[in-house]
Amino acid sequence: MSARVLDGTRLAATLRDELHPRVAAFTAAHGRPPGLALVLIGDDPASHVYVGSKRRQGADAGFRVDIHEHPDTMPLEDALALVATLNADPGIDGILVQSPLPAGMGPEAARRVFDAIDPAKDVDGFTAENVGRLVQNRPGLVACTPAGVIELLVRSDVRIAGAHAVVIGRSDIVGKPMAMLLLHRHATVTIAHSRTPDLPALAATADILVAAIGRPGFVTPAFVKPGACVVDVGINRLTREADVVEFFGAASPRLASFRARGSTLVGDVHPAVADVAGAITPVPGGVGPLTIAMLMRNTLQAAEWRVSQG
Ligand code: NDP
Repeated sequence: MSARVLDGTRLAATLRDELHPRVAAFTAAHGRPPGLALVLIGDDPASHVYVGSKRRQGADAGFRVDIHEHPDTMPLEDALALVATLNADPGIDGILVQSPLPAGMGPEAARRVFDAIDPAKDVDGFTAENVGRLVQNRPGLVACTPAGVIELLVRSDVRIAGAHAVVIGRSDIVGKPMAMLLLHRHATVTIAHSRTPDLPALAATADILVAAIGRPGFVTPAFVKPGACVVDVGINRLTREADVVEFFGAASPRLASFRARGSTLVGDVHPAVADVAGAITPVPGGVGPLTIAMLMRNTLQAAEWRVSQG
């Protein structure tokens, strides 16, 4: 491996340390800690893990964290009523509804529930108002994963201004806000997706390549300009030993951890890319920890803005 590893776990710890004095000052000034409500509907195992880490890290940061857990039979109207109650609760500054919502709630459920969240408490940055603010480069709550990527690039001294950034993926929660944030920092940005022709050649023109696809090892060395910075947003679970061997090779230590756990997490970027790239984010330990750290920062930011507006 030749690429510099951009360590998201270490930066997430720094970000948490930076929050402590601000949380303490807020709590002392307002007689209450910043409040975060986590809404978990259904029994998706990964969602339970994510909400568990968010609860722990929120509590460690000194926040009040309320978990609202409901079965997958929860009617959409009840979920909307819960959001309305949280919107009106003066002790709650941030509301996060964990995705995905149960399929039984209907195809429009996620959009309707996210739309119902007060933009001032929308710590995921998913509401139309916050997305609009992002597009216009005005202060607002920004989606946590792309915000964390920017933090990592900036603090790792990766040059963004003037760079050509290619973002593979155009989802509302990662690809699009990622592209906007890079644009506002003066990158020339190309957004690629499943209909982009000759993707490896396009990607190989990037100084900064962001992979947010959801396909293990999709980005191979053919996609990467030598020396480029490669950001791997993907989180994919491998559950077959043959796939782990194909990914890391038969001598990799990851094989032992796979055998102990029965699965292992990998990104969208193939490990061989580390031989070509100049810098790379690992999976796990890259973008993932930053997402939760940025959620905490957004919650504190939301709290500070709300009290400043009376
Ligand atoms: P989505 O499924 O919503 O979007 C995936 C994007 O990848 C789509 O725009 C799709 O294109 C594109 N894509 C799919 N296949 C191809 C292909 N063959 N060639 C080019 N583009 C393709 O995923 P998300 O954006 O929600 O998440 C992406 C990944 O990031 C997932 O692995 C997810 O688990 C992970 N993630 C990680 C987070 C973290 O904290 N690290 C947070 C959020 C997500 P099209 O639009 O044309 O279909």
